[in-house]
Parts: sequence; C-alpha cells; structure tokens
Amino acid sequence: MKNKDLQVAALENGSVIDHIPVDKLFTLVQMLQLDKFTEPVTIGNNLESHKCSKKGIIKVSGKFFTDDELSRLAVVCPDMKLAVIRDYEVVEKRDIVLPETLTDVVKCANPVCITNNEPMHTIFNVDKEQGVVKCHYCGKTQTIGNIKLK
Ligand SMILES: [Zn+2]
Repeated sequence: MKNKDLQVAALENGSVIDHIPVDKLFTLVQMLQLDKFTEPVTIGNNLESHKCSKKGIIKVSGKFFTDDELSRLAVVCPDMKLAVIRDYEVVEKRDIVLPETLTDVVKCANPVCITNNEPMHTIFNVDKEQGVVKCHYCGKTQTIGNIKLK
C-alpha cells in the first residue's frame, strides 16, 4: 500500500482534496472556512508528489462537499483530486473539474452589469480552451485563476 493510500484510509467518513498546488492551499482553507469546523481537519503542505514536485492535501472528517463548493474550488485551482470516504473505504475518487456553467459562484467584474445592480444570481459560461469564464448577462470575461468569487 502506498503512503498516500494510508493517509486516506485514516479517515472513517469524510473527504480528501489532493494534488493542491502549494501556493493555493491556504486560499482553499479560507474558502472552505475550515477554521470553523469542529470535526478533525488535517492540512498538509509541501508533500512529495509523483505528478509535480510538491503538493498540498486537505482531509476533513464528517464533511461531504457539495457540487457548489467544489465548483468554487475549481475556479481557484482546477485539476485537483477528490476522494470521498465512507466507513474507511474510498467510495468515490474523481478530478475536481470546472462545470460548464457556474451559477452564483463568480462575481461579475463589470460594475454596470445587471448582476451587480439587482439582487440576482450570476451565471457564467466556462471556456476551458480559452481559460476564461464569461458573464451570461454582459459578456465580460475573467481569466480562470484570477476570478472574483461571489
Ligand atoms: Zn456581467
């Protein structure tokens, strides 16, 4: 068994976010508001990785992330991995990818956009090839990795 599998197996129920770029780890910790959790949280950084030289990892007991929460994470940092643990077993393992549409995740950077002036949800279409998200209402684009979250 590889070391990484041992780390994952230590959780009874919860989620593991893996392959986090080391410079994004603490941004994600803030976004997930992990300081408010009462269940055990394990945060590791600068760990050895096969894929890249170093990586970060977050393990949260008793927490199962919603698609909305994962979408927010993917906006900051695509290409991470999620493992879901139930009863010490990995029941789900997948890439955290940006969905094609982001609803109420991104704040439009255009101050005169209707979404900044009316109480309404934002809708952004994701263009992965161009690496941008585009406001459904005004067409303003923002670069993935440098996006204002709502
Ligand atoms: Zn807009």
